[in-house]
This record gives sequence, structure tokens and C-alpha cells, in this order.
Amino acid sequence: MSIRIDKGKCVRCGQCALVCPGGLIVQDEEKKAYIKYPKDCWGCAACLKECKVGAIKYFLGADIGGKGVYLYTLDEQDFLHWFIVNNDIQHRMTSNKRESNKY
Ligand code: SF4
Ligand code: SF4
Repeated sequence: MSIRIDKGKCVRCGQCALVCPGGLIVQDEEKKAYIKYPKDCWGCAACLKECKVGAIKYFLGADIGGKGVYLYTLDEQDFLHWFIVNNDIQHRMTSNKRESNKY
């Protein structure tokens, strides 16, 4: 798994860099985020969940999709929308952040 950050969408909040447990994401001189050590990403998705503007693409591993299939998220108050994009076909799931620790 790996991520890619679209600098055109990045609004410079720095949250992804803050939450990445490996310190793999940094901000450039314009405060735009980028992944400095992509090979070290182990796909925890922490950065993906923090990006409120959908600037981070999270590419799925071959075992659960692969071949260019990716996720991105959009934040809407208490809800987090998860989009799965496969060959330009998009599926959406929505989770309630207030209930995210309930099983
Ligand atoms: S969380 Fe998203 S908007 Fe914020 S710095 Fe990272 S990529 Fe940019
Ligand atoms: S998926 Fe996890 S390890 Fe990879 S860049 Fe994002 S926060 Fe860091």
C-alpha cells in the first residue's frame, strides 16, 4: 500500500504530517504536504482519515484490490465519507466519527 498527495488540493493544514506514526510526511516551503519516504509507508491510513479535503489517495494492495484502486476521504462535520475509486467508478461509504469506537 502507498499514498500519494495531490498538492493542488492540499490546504496546508499539516494534520497528515502530524499523525503519521512514522514521520513519513513533511511539508514543503509552501506548507504543502508530500510523502518523503513512500517505501516506508505501511498503510495505516491515519493520514487518509485526517485529510478533510480529499488530497490524499491511498492505493490498495494487490490482495484487496490493487491495480490502481484507491481510497480518499471527505470530511463532513460528524461524518467521514470514504470513496473507493476503481477504473473511474466510485463507491461511497460513510462512517459516523462519534461512533467510530463502537463495535
Ligand atoms: S491533511 Fe490533507 S490538506 Fe492537510 S496538509 Fe495533509 S494533504 Fe494537505
Ligand atoms: S498511511 Fe500511515 S504510515 Fe503511510 S503515510 Fe499515511 S500515516 Fe504514514
